[in-house]
Amino acid sequence: MAKLGLLDRLASGPVICAEGYLFELERRGYLQAGAYVPEVVLDFPEQVENLHRDFLRAGSDVIEAFTYYAHREKLRLIGREGDLEPMNRAALSLAKKVAAEGDALVAGNICNTNIFAASDAAVAKQVRAMFEEQVRWAVEAGVDYIVAETISWLGEADIALAVMRQTKLPTVVTLALHKDGLLRDGYAPEDAARRLADKGADVVGLNCARGPRTMLPYVRKIRDAVAVHVAALPVPYRTTEKEPTFQSLTEKDADCAHCLPEGRSFPVALDPFQATRYEIAEFGREAFAAGIRYLGVCCGAGPHHIRALAEALGRRPPASRFSPDMSKHYAFGSDPSLKRANQQYVGNL
Ligand SMILES: [Zn+2]
Repeated sequence: MAKLGLLDRLASGPVICAEGYLFELERRGYLQAGAYVPEVVLDFPEQVENLHRDFLRAGSDVIEAFTYYAHREKLRLIGREGDLEPMNRAALSLAKKVAAEGDALVAGNICNTNIFAASDAAVAKQVRAMFEEQVRWAVEAGVDYIVAETISWLGEADIALAVMRQTKLPTVVTLALHKDGLLRDGYAPEDAARRLADKGADVVGLNCARGPRTMLPYVRKIRDAVAVHVAALPVPYRTTEKEPTFQSLTEKDADCAHCLPEGRSFPVALDPFQATRYEIAEFGREAFAAGIRYLGVCCGAGPHHIRALAEALGRRPPASRFSPDMSKHYAFGSDPSLKRANQQYVGNL
């Protein structure tokens, strides 16, 4: 039987998309924070494959090819431009392989180039060429749809969308919203989303940068502004009104702050701000109730977050076999065979 496509799936319920491979593989020691290039795809492909599989088991409906930052500008930066095409092709084939183990969709992926500048035609041309080569490899690999993500300029998103639209495949565009709540070219996110939807994007929304609490108000506005499907993929961190992005989170514990390089928690000392799986579950329920159907978690996400999101949306993925059951805990549990002395001692733990 043919695999159901993205738009059919969105028409009948939520679609879950795990992201954040970069942060997770950095934590595991397979790529470097800073340049953040997915060299792991060529150097330790089995690690990428395993992570894809972890997220599939946890309930992701999509395996995104790990081509985030596998673009010409980043490869140039680390002196591996010659590996650009092999890295993209390898990432696409790893995603395809794991997706086929379940009923998952394969998504091609392009992202922020970090060279875009408003009203610079030469740079726009360069950006287009970067997107075109990556999109061409994705199409050749037979992806089900293409995502442009973490883009903070409407102008750059426009180029990404135009390139993706040439493929006739479904398109998802998710924008990254920095502290001031505006795109870098000054657009309110709901206006940018409306323009992208008018130009044919099938799904528009936000990803990365903001945690659930500071992203939800904006995706609600986007939901009200467009007729197409809306996406929300926050980072799993406790961002606040004062510190609305994970880049802006600052350590409050003086005993810890003094040991942070340059006093900054981003990107590798964000552990104290980590959202629990229950917060991600709550985010999933609230977003879905608000009519947002394309849901996921970005940088910082682990499989436990994706499983919690899936369960909150009424799913029971394979990894739910091991979802917590405290009734059998030796002290906090209620199983009648447990030792009562331990249950009575629980207040001392
Ligand atoms: Zn992210």
